[in-house]
Amino acid sequence: MAQLIDGRATAEKVYAQLRGDIAELNARGVTPGLAVVLVGEDPASRAYVRSKDKMCRNLGLHSVKLELPAETTQEELLARVEGLNRDPAIHGILVQSPPPKHIDEAAIVRALDPAKDVDGFHSMNVAKLALGDSSGFVPCTPLGCQRLLVESGVAISGAHVVVLGRSMIVGKPMAMLLMQKGKAADATVTVVHSRTRNLPEITRTADIIIAAIGQAHFVKAEHVRDGAVVIDVGINRVDDAASERGYRLVGDVAFAEVEPKAAAITPVPGGVGPMTIAMLMSNTVKACRQQAAADR
Ligand code: NDP
Repeated sequence: MAQLIDGRATAEKVYAQLRGDIAELNARGVTPGLAVVLVGEDPASRAYVRSKDKMCRNLGLHSVKLELPAETTQEELLARVEGLNRDPAIHGILVQSPPPKHIDEAAIVRALDPAKDVDGFHSMNVAKLALGDSSGFVPCTPLGCQRLLVESGVAISGAHVVVLGRSMIVGKPMAMLLMQKGKAADATVTVVHSRTRNLPEITRTADIIIAAIGQAHFVKAEHVRDGAVVIDVGINRVDDAASERGYRLVGDVAFAEVEPKAAAITPVPGGVGPMTIAMLMSNTVKACRQQAAADR
C-alpha cells in the first residue's frame, strides 16, 4: 500500500507556520493584504475566489474581493489593477483566470506590480525562477507540489522527476523549480507533453511523477514503475449520475490501479488542491514582508 500524501494536513502545517509569521508582522503594525479580482460570473472561478477570501479571513489577513461584471472593459480592469498596485494595504494581487474573452490576460499580468504578483505569472517572476533568485514569486501549484514532497520526506535531490504537462501555470515552473541547484531541488527533470513519443517508457523511468495535463485518469499502472512517488495535479470533471451534482472531480492519475504500485501518492481531492491555496497565502505573507522591509 502506498503512503497517502495528505494535502489537507500538510496545508494545516503551513498555516500553523504562517500564523506565527503573521503575528510577527502584526506586532510591527502590518497586516498582509490580498486582493482577488474576478471578472464575470464563471461559477468555478467564483468558488475559488470565495475560498481564497475565506482562507484570508481565517488567517487574519486583509482581504479584498473585487467582483466585476463580465462587461468590464480592458481599460477599466487595468485601472483597477493600477489602483491596487498603488494601495499600500494590498501586498498581493491575483486576477482570477480565465477572464472573459475580450480581456487580454497577458496585458493584465504585465500591468501587475511584480512585487505584488503572488501568482508568479509576471515575466519578472518567471525570470527570477529561471535565474534561481528566491526573491521572486513561484506559481502556487508547483510550489505546493514541491512543499508536499518535502513535507512527506521524499528525496528530491538526484531523483528523476517526470513532469507531465508544460503549461506556464504548472508544468514549466514545476520543472524549473525542481531542476534548480539547492535545497528541495537538484532533481533530474524530464518534461513530457502531447507531442512526446513513447511517453509511458519515459514515465516508467521516473522516481517521481507529477501529472498536470488535465486528462482524467490518464496515468495508468503501465506508466508507473514500482516504488515511484506520484503527485496528481489534475482536477477533471467526470459524469457521475450517483452524485448530487451529476459529476465528480478526479485527477490525471487512475488512482485505483496506480496506488498499489506507488510508494506514495496524492489523492484527488485532498492532495495538491489544498496546497495551492496554502502557497497563495504563503506568497502573500512573503510579499508583505518584502514590502514592509522596503518601506523601512
Ligand atoms: P493546460 O491545459 O494549460 O496544459 C496541459 C498540458 O498537458 C499541456 O502542456 C499539454 O501538452 C499536456 N497534455 C494534454 N494532453 C496530453 C496528453 N494526452 N499526453 C501528454 N500531454 C498532454 O493545463 P494546466 O497546466 O493549467 O492544468 C493541468 C491540470 O491541472 C488540469 O486538470 C487543471 O485543472 C489542474 N490544475 C490543478 C490545480 C490545483 O490547484 N490542483 C491548479 C492548476 C491546474 P501541449 O503543451 O503539447 O498541448
